Order: sequence, then C-alpha cells, then structure tokens
Amino acid sequence: MISVPNGRRFGALPACVPKFPQICQPCVGLLASPTMDHSIVPANLLKALRPKLPAMLGVLKQLVCRESPSTEKSVADACAALLVDLWKNRFVEVEILQQERCGAHLRMTHEPKGRNPRGQLLVLGHYDTVYASGTLRKMPFRVAAGKVFGPGVFDMKAGIVQALFALATLHELGAPLTKRIVFLWTSDEEIGSESSRKLIEAEAEHSEAVFVLEPSLGLKGLLRTARKGVGEAELIARGRASHAGLAPEREANAIHELALQIARIKEWNDPRRGISVNAGIIEGGTRTNVIPDRAKAVLDLRALRIVDMGTIENRLHALKPILRGTRLEVRGGFSRAPLERKSSAALFQRAQSLAKQMGLKIGECTAGGGSDGNFTAALGIPTLDGFGAVGDGAHSPGEFIIAKTMPERAALLAAMLFNT
Ligand SMILES: [Zn+2]
Repeated sequence: MISVPNGRRFGALPACVPKFPQICQPCVGLLASPTMDHSIVPANLLKALRPKLPAMLGVLKQLVCRESPSTEKSVADACAALLVDLWKNRFVEVEILQQERCGAHLRMTHEPKGRNPRGQLLVLGHYDTVYASGTLRKMPFRVAAGKVFGPGVFDMKAGIVQALFALATLHELGAPLTKRIVFLWTSDEEIGSESSRKLIEAEAEHSEAVFVLEPSLGLKGLLRTARKGVGEAELIARGRASHAGLAPEREANAIHELALQIARIKEWNDPRRGISVNAGIIEGGTRTNVIPDRAKAVLDLRALRIVDMGTIENRLHALKPILRGTRLEVRGGFSRAPLERKSSAALFQRAQSLAKQMGLKIGECTAGGGSDGNFTAALGIPTLDGFGAVGDGAHSPGEFIIAKTMPERAALLAAMLFNT
C-alpha cells in the first residue's frame, strides 16, 4: 500500500482497471477548456500532476499487464493495440506502422491547436521489453512500500505513462503549445532497433530537440547526458590445419594468433577516456591434437567520443598477423555513435532550472550503454535521455520504479515540452 497526496489509500488495483478516459476524470473535457487562464509555470504542472498518481498507476498496471517481448510479434502487437486505445482521442493523431517481424511502431502526433506549428519536438520511447510472455506469472505487477514492480515497468512503460499524463495536463492547464510534438513508441529497441531506426532518424531530422524516456539512473533519477557509442566486431584468425604431433614445424595455429591479437587489443582499453574493448566470446579448434585453422573472437566496443569510435575501428582494420602463415579478418564495428554531452548540455541546463522551479533537484550521468538517443544525437539533434522513470533493476526480476516520482517526471517532461 502507498499513500497518495489526496489522502486516499492506493493498494492493489482491481483486475480490470478502467480505461484512462474514465479513470482520469480531471482530464475529461480538457479539450473544451483549452484557454483556461492558468500560468503554465513548472510548479503548477507538478501541482496538477500529483493528484493523478492513482490514475497513472492504473494506466501503468494496464500497460505492464499487457506483455510485450520484442521477439514475439503477436504478443507485442496486442500491447500496441492497448497503447492505441490509451492514446486515441487524447489530443493526438495515432498512426500504426505495422512491422513484419516485430510489434507495430506507433507514431502519435500532437499539433498545436488552431495554428501552424513552429517547429517539432520528438519524444522517444519503446514499449517492448526483454521479458518473454508468461513472465508476469513469476513477476506480477504489484505495488508495495511505494515501489511498483513488474516486467518492463522501469524500462520503460512508466515513461510512456508519464508522457501521456504530461500531455493531458498541458491540455488541462490550457497551455498554448506552439510546436508539433511527435511521440514515437517503438517495439524493437531491446533487440537493436533494426526496424525502427530509420523512422526514428527521419522524425529526428525534423525536430529541434529529442526527449528519450529511457529510465533514469539510480534512486536520484539522474538524467543521461552522455551515452557511450556501442558496437560489436568479429576478429577471425585463419591458419593452417595440421597434426599437432607430426608436423608442428608447419604450424599456423589460429588460436595462438587470436590469443596474441587479443592481448594487443586489450591495451586499447582506456577507462579515463571511456574506451572499452571487451573480448566476450571466443571460439575455435576441434581437438587437442589438431592445430586449428580458424578461431574467432567477438568483441564488444564502446567509446564516449565519436573520434575514439573512428580510432578503434581503424586500429581493428589495421591489425596485422603476428604468426607466420596466419591471416586476419575483421567484421562489424560500431552500430551506434556516442551521445556526446555537448548534444544534451543546453537541454539539461533547462531541465535543471525547470526542476528547481518545482522544488526538485536533478543531476546527470554518463551511461555505458546505448539507446535510440544515440541515433538522434549522431544527427546533431539536441537529445536528452533518461527522462523516464526513477527506479532500478532494469532487465531483472526485481525491476521497479518509485511510484511518487511519476508525477514529478511527468511534470518535468511537460515543462520541457512547453518551454523548448
Ligand atoms: Zn529501454
């Protein structure tokens, strides 16, 4: 059980939570009063959002209880259908972009009322999760001691709910929005965004700023102002097979060659500059008495700066064999450029100042992993990431969010959408 600001107790929700338009009574009829004379200051946004926590949790329960593994198309499509239900008639035009192998991507466009938009903002999120269908049975949605648990609650269904309420509240307060806001909810982020990348980049190209609703870091909810670029490369050594006892002089041992190369590559690691090269998988050889003719290492590549990303790739391709009779082959490389801090600095400063006006403090951090924000920052579009929920344990059975931060994060997003 958790206490909510209006004094009611909020515990386990009924199995069938009413739909958003019914549970969010304060928001009903918002379109009828778009010119209400409220000053849209951050503190008012927060004040309007705090009492909505029970409604936010109700929508979150619906969303978490509709599982959405990236790799199960029909299951994910059912979650997309719920998102369409939740968002349709809520001030946005909803487009369902069907995909062949994964759930539909959803584009929700909010146009400023009665005027041509003065630019575009992009809010990015993904509704897919890393959890196979059926996970809910072992890891049910539950609220306990102010925390909300469930598969994907933190990464990143709460973020989507926060966005829904941020927009609704801007309407409720009659905020004169001047820009088009595009919300993209994609279905394949957890498996590399192969089918959504072009869509994300195309929308980003038209946008002045991108807000990524990935989870923030730690219980302080740090925004992610930099993210490492990430990639994967295969280093393949080829030698000459022969009998280990009969013809050792003809040795061109691919495993020995690969081992020497890995020792060389290991020296490229530079934690201070944020460079890491990790040989995570090696394979090769058949029997102990056979000199192997092939061995392969799969390398995880990370860098904080675009220039370092290029350097690592160049060095990989410039590797020369050490042992006579061996050859090297390199495949792959970086798939996401880093989100460099300069892409997010100005937006972060604004977020910090708006948070301060709500009496909240926000900090920043660098993330070792990539997100879809890496794509948009690489295009030169200001991008601020980690705008989603506050919690911990992403991709683990203990994944949770801190319930009372949902209105705060929604208010911060609303303030940014209004003030950017
Ligand atoms: Zn995520």
